[in-house]
Amino acid sequence: MLGFNDIHEECGIFGVFGHPEASNLTYLGLYALQHRGQEGAGICSSDGKTLYIEKGIGHVSEVFYEKRIKRLPGDIAIGHNRYSTAGGSALKNVQPIMVNFALGALAIAHNGNLTNANALRRRLESDGAIFQSSSDSEVIIHLIARLRASSAEEKIIRAVNEIRGAFSLLIMRENELIAVRDSYGVRPMCLGSYNDAYVIASETCAFDLIGATYIRDIEPGEMLTIDRNGLHSFKAIKSTRRAHCVFEFIYFARPDSNIFDGINVHDIRKELGKQLARESNTEADVVIPVPDSGVMATIGYANESGIPFDFGLVRNHYVGRTFLEPKQNIRHFGVKIKLNPIKSLIMGKRVIVMDDSIVRGTTSKKIVKMLRETAMAKEVHMKISAPCTISPCFYGIDTPTRTELIASTHVVEEIRKYITADSLSYLSLEGLKLAVPNPEDYCYACFNNKYPIALQDMEDVDYAQMELFFA
Ligand code: AMP
Repeated sequence: MLGFNDIHEECGIFGVFGHPEASNLTYLGLYALQHRGQEGAGICSSDGKTLYIEKGIGHVSEVFYEKRIKRLPGDIAIGHNRYSTAGGSALKNVQPIMVNFALGALAIAHNGNLTNANALRRRLESDGAIFQSSSDSEVIIHLIARLRASSAEEKIIRAVNEIRGAFSLLIMRENELIAVRDSYGVRPMCLGSYNDAYVIASETCAFDLIGATYIRDIEPGEMLTIDRNGLHSFKAIKSTRRAHCVFEFIYFARPDSNIFDGINVHDIRKELGKQLARESNTEADVVIPVPDSGVMATIGYANESGIPFDFGLVRNHYVGRTFLEPKQNIRHFGVKIKLNPIKSLIMGKRVIVMDDSIVRGTTSKKIVKMLRETAMAKEVHMKISAPCTISPCFYGIDTPTRTELIASTHVVEEIRKYITADSLSYLSLEGLKLAVPNPEDYCYACFNNKYPIALQDMEDVDYAQMELFFA
């Protein structure tokens, strides 16, 4: 049986309604959203009568080529980039998922993680449902198909009121594109226009690539349907509070994107670095980022502290994110493949090195060793532009289990010793809250263990360690 952390849904989604090049635009949109998932990609299109689907394992550019996109005709399309860990990366788990049911064909692309998928799956299975994949998103499809209602839209409304957790969903029918966002607005999703067409994307960087104009975010709890008569918005799910994922700002979203009602990710990252500089007083000759994720925060840190910024580590851009490697020995190796220090810049210096997070501690340990032993730094001070990651995410960011998170079992001084840095400091939770507008509107569960959305699939999770927080 599936448990938490078997399937991770760090994903990017993109949709188009009303453009003759819908699948081409979707391909470009997925290209811009590649950072949200690298394991698989898929596009489903509609010509008003039939749904067509193409998907595969790998990056968008590997999965799609001209001939394949030509097999996706029509002026409506949705696409999905998937990231999943071991066991979940089979082709059958790559989205969109397409089915035929009583009311016609339907395809779905989902970003986020459901927190009651296991419970729903058991209920549906005992009711006769046969599942083909281990993905949460198939649960949504079965719910839509089985719930009694006279129209597909009503079935969808009923289904999204049964699922819990994080979901930014794109659903496509022969002549309709539907976007639904969970009532907390955990994952980003925005609406734009492109000539006479509408586009929907996880992040605005996808709009920039195709030259689309941002209109607004899909509201938490909103169901937006787009058909031949235009846009129709419903409040499909009652919302009590917002809980946007703050880690989208820290690490996950692209810095050129504006998310959560138009906030620029780069601006927030810089602010995180400034806050960290205000909280620390480390003397150093140079401050360098761990590229690429630490760059923006390091600029903020340098501006605020007056310590010169430089690129002391050079990244090879042609290898995947080391974190994505499933085996420990490959990940160790991966840091060396990915990063190399500029020795002349580091040698004999007191160096501050900044990254956005420490998960297991592997990356930081390798970097400190590299700066000290290979590049001969005099001192190495590690700064993290976020608080300690103490709790796993159940809403769609891939984090390992609690026991694998070094900060859940070790205090900062123990982590410092483990990574062999001269000093180690994290941004405080208060500092993080100062860096984001409307701080009460975010989920900080990975940093404070307070989960804003109930975790129903609790069988694999140590309940005692959870602090459920309902606003
Ligand atoms: P670790 O080596 O396990 O401590 O991982 C820390 C590194 O992983 C940092 O460089 C982060 O930028 C990166 N990272 C943090 N969270 C994630 C994530 N969810 N997916 C991929 N990489 C991540």
